[in-house]
Amino acid sequence: MLSRLKAYFFDHPQSTASIVRRTMGEQFPHYRARYGVAAIFMAITAGATAAMAWLMRDAVNGIFVDQQVMAIWVFGGLIIALSMAKGLCTFVQTLILQRIGNAIVASIQRRIIDKLLHLSPGYFARSNSNEVVHRMNNASQAPAALTNMIVTSVGSDLLTLILLVAVMAMQDLLMTGLALVITPAVIFGVTRLVDMMRNLSSDEAAGMVDVYTAAQETSAGISVIKSFRMEDAMRTRAGKAIRGVELKRNAIARILNLTAPLMESLGGVAIGIAMIYAGWQTIEAGKTPGEYMAFIAAFLLAYEPAKRLARLRLNIERSAKISQMVYSLLDTPEEPPDLPEATPLEAVTGQVSLNEVTFSYSRKARVIKGVSLNAGAGEMIALVGPSGGGKTTLVNLIQRFYEPDSGEILIDGQNIRLVTRASLRQHMAFVSQDAFLFDGSIYDNVLCGRLDATEDEVIAAVKAAYAWDFVAQLPQGIMTPVGEKGILLSTGQRQRLTIARAILRDAPILLLDEATSALDNESERMVQAALRRLMEGRTTIVIAHRLSTVRRADRIYVIENGKVAEEGTHDSLIKQKGVYARLYMGDAFDRYDEAVMEAAK
Ligand code: ADP
Ligand code: MG
Repeated sequence: MLSRLKAYFFDHPQSTASIVRRTMGEQFPHYRARYGVAAIFMAITAGATAAMAWLMRDAVNGIFVDQQVMAIWVFGGLIIALSMAKGLCTFVQTLILQRIGNAIVASIQRRIIDKLLHLSPGYFARSNSNEVVHRMNNASQAPAALTNMIVTSVGSDLLTLILLVAVMAMQDLLMTGLALVITPAVIFGVTRLVDMMRNLSSDEAAGMVDVYTAAQETSAGISVIKSFRMEDAMRTRAGKAIRGVELKRNAIARILNLTAPLMESLGGVAIGIAMIYAGWQTIEAGKTPGEYMAFIAAFLLAYEPAKRLARLRLNIERSAKISQMVYSLLDTPEEPPDLPEATPLEAVTGQVSLNEVTFSYSRKARVIKGVSLNAGAGEMIALVGPSGGGKTTLVNLIQRFYEPDSGEILIDGQNIRLVTRASLRQHMAFVSQDAFLFDGSIYDNVLCGRLDATEDEVIAAVKAAYAWDFVAQLPQGIMTPVGEKGILLSTGQRQRLTIARAILRDAPILLLDEATSALDNESERMVQAALRRLMEGRTTIVIAHRLSTVRRADRIYVIENGKVAEEGTHDSLIKQKGVYARLYMGDAFDRYDEAVMEAAK
């Protein structure tokens, strides 16, 4: 039973103890020397704090009881020197700790980026991008906070507390014992109050959201509210939220206003008792007032470190929980590595064929159910069919974002499972429908098609994609920044730049996910022309949405429900009067560009 419990708390990968152990194990060794230096400064600070309290005895006795002039200079000077030493050491030690903390955050962020780059695309399909950003920005701080928290509490707070208690014990054992019993109880009581208040505050914030929502909905939805006579319902709902917030605020006020007077009274009671006891001891038992001054000074100085230590467990738990968010990301399995016997794909003509490929994203549902298709070198084949049929999945499989469950994908007769991923993707260019651009200049965005291209080659690609006209007119020309995701450009311009990127790549195989929405006349014609230029002499597999594209295809594969339902040319498929003919009649294709082309003739 006990070992089971121990296993749960200490060996369970998500227990606080294991997260703390992992964090310390990963981080501490790298910074051992620097932590050592920080610990020296912490020890000096703790020593100076205790020494100040300890000096109180001789200072008070020397100056106030015995009235020695020398004592004024000696103790005054010592206190000044100690305070300055303490300030300096605190500065150095916190600076070292923060710099270690920053280094830890940076190393975690580097690991996250590296991880993201190695995860399979499936991970991103499943996860929320805001969450990835949150882990990168905020959660990455937690392991650093955790490490520094532990080092500080052991090296600084605990040491200071021990030294101060020692100073107290040297003055009066009985009172020290009493303080050790009562103070922790008071501190825990106060921390409980603080926690209660924190919970109430977050409840209050949640209630405030309801109040805001009510106000916002009332103003935005007033016509609906009026016409459906929802005034009373709205008033009741808002009223409940408002009343809830009011009650929470009263509770907060109660605690908030209780804490300060409570602490003050308790402090006063403590001082009163100490005074009675100390006075009695001095007058009746011959002790010196200095001893009690030293005791009180040590007691007061111990309050801050003791309070921090009391909250330590809670803070560790919170940071550990956040650290776990980082670790769960870092522990996600990566894209499986290339096979050990993998070879680079041989320079290819670009013939692509799929043999009886099956695939499922999860065990539950098979998405691709035995697809065979063939794109001869330089051919253009179109994948069409109802949404959800599996077209995008096939394109993902050809890029080996996922591995088929059975069947094989061959490029010039080589199974892509047996070649290196890098060489495979080297031979392909992918143009997605969303025309994704990175935050950077036009030049950078085209250059990422082939990083070793010269400036002339980049410009040639931009020209080939019919993008030079607008690029040349921009204030900074090809060096113009495109803004985040390219928002500074129009959709048609972005599409032509992604086409330029693919032209520059000059890969024998082109994968194209045609945009679903048509552009205005002019842009549409330019994009179509750029695409035709791009397809020239390449094997192209296009997920087609435009009638003009399917008409030009050497072969059309109708993908329905994970299978090839029909294949053939536009004319032969129309004659079959099957799925394709129905799609054609049923307006599944964008005829807009067709109309534009007709009109242009
Ligand atoms: P199409 O491109 O023809 O519209 P998809 O290839 O996108 O079809 O999708 C085929 C099927 O696979 C759909 O049922 C879809 O819900 C499912 N699917 C697509 N992507 C994923 C994914 N990442 N995880 C699980 N299921 C997916
Ligand atoms: Mg799709």
